Amino acid sequence: MQKTIKPVFLQRIFAVQKKFPSYQVDGILFSNISNIRYLSGFTGSDGILILSADAVRLLVDGRYTTQAVAEVQPVPVVQYQNKIQGIEKAVKELGLTKIGFEASFVSVEMFNDLTRSLKKTKLVPLGDELRLLRAYKDKYEIAVMKKAAAIASAAVAVLSCEIEPGWTEQETALQLEMTARRAGAEQVAFETIVASGKHAALPHAQPTNRKIQNGDFVVIDFGVKYQGYCSDETCTFAIGELTGDQKNAYRATLQAHDETIAFIKAGIAAADVDALVRRVLGKKYSRYFVHGTGHGVGLEVHEAPRLAPNSQDVLNAGMVVTVEPGLYYPGRWGIRIEDTVFVKENSCEIITKMKKDYTIIG
Ligand code: ZN
Ligand code: ZN
Repeated sequence: MQKTIKPVFLQRIFAVQKKFPSYQVDGILFSNISNIRYLSGFTGSDGILILSADAVRLLVDGRYTTQAVAEVQPVPVVQYQNKIQGIEKAVKELGLTKIGFEASFVSVEMFNDLTRSLKKTKLVPLGDELRLLRAYKDKYEIAVMKKAAAIASAAVAVLSCEIEPGWTEQETALQLEMTARRAGAEQVAFETIVASGKHAALPHAQPTNRKIQNGDFVVIDFGVKYQGYCSDETCTFAIGELTGDQKNAYRATLQAHDETIAFIKAGIAAADVDALVRRVLGKKYSRYFVHGTGHGVGLEVHEAPRLAPNSQDVLNAGMVVTVEPGLYYPGRWGIRIEDTVFVKENSCEIITKMKKDYTIIG
């Protein structure tokens, strides 16, 4: 654990404080734990971070005091017994009169409690203002995200040599997770998806005891956390000989994936990226592509920006996003090919490493 708060956290806090006038607040109360980690380095799972224009406080309960003091000093850590009372005390001490809060992360109950206890303080809901808070990654974040991706990709590569017909989806997921944990993964970034046969037609299928068999596509969507940062990547294996229709559909998905990644650079609208995927898939396939093209990745596996038909986001240098075209034929089979890319001025860099060529197993 670090002994002092790294300047990077102070810089991030300062960048938020500079925006107070445009948000019309004199403080912000953060309750989203990923935002708290991003701004302070605190790795616990519960707490409140309060910023004023020139001060900061981390509020935690007794479970986290020792850890928080070690992780975030010299940010003052205040232990509370009751969260709302702790917030009330800090808001008074900091003299805040207009305090912003993360509208998407405060429950109605908490909002009501805050309204009751902070009678003289105006509560200002912030939504779009904080949406892109973590969207731009620095060199450190890119480095740890590459490490997370390397661990996950290596585990999938090992799996591709081991997996054979007869393994269940659950065994396959377990094997993948064990390999990744042994290689240094802190935990999985999301529930591992191993979806075979007709299960592959469900974009968010859960692994079952179905045995993988010849003629299956097996969609493996797998990511791990390293230093708190997520990786996200999907491969689709072909088990044995597949039909011509399946092979053509795979080629179409891969082409949409490749052309889209070649198109991504700073200044491109996220909606245009999504439109390109659908255009390359064409009339024959695009109706089987039932979700958005991608999403930002970082401390959370799904974060801003969003690559989808109605997205207002624009991609910019420093953002890390996924490109994940997929085709889903209900009751039959499915395919998804996903990489995570780092957006640069004139191109993007693929940070996930698994090969995406058509891979026949068995
Ligand atoms: Zn994924
Ligand atoms: Zn994804």
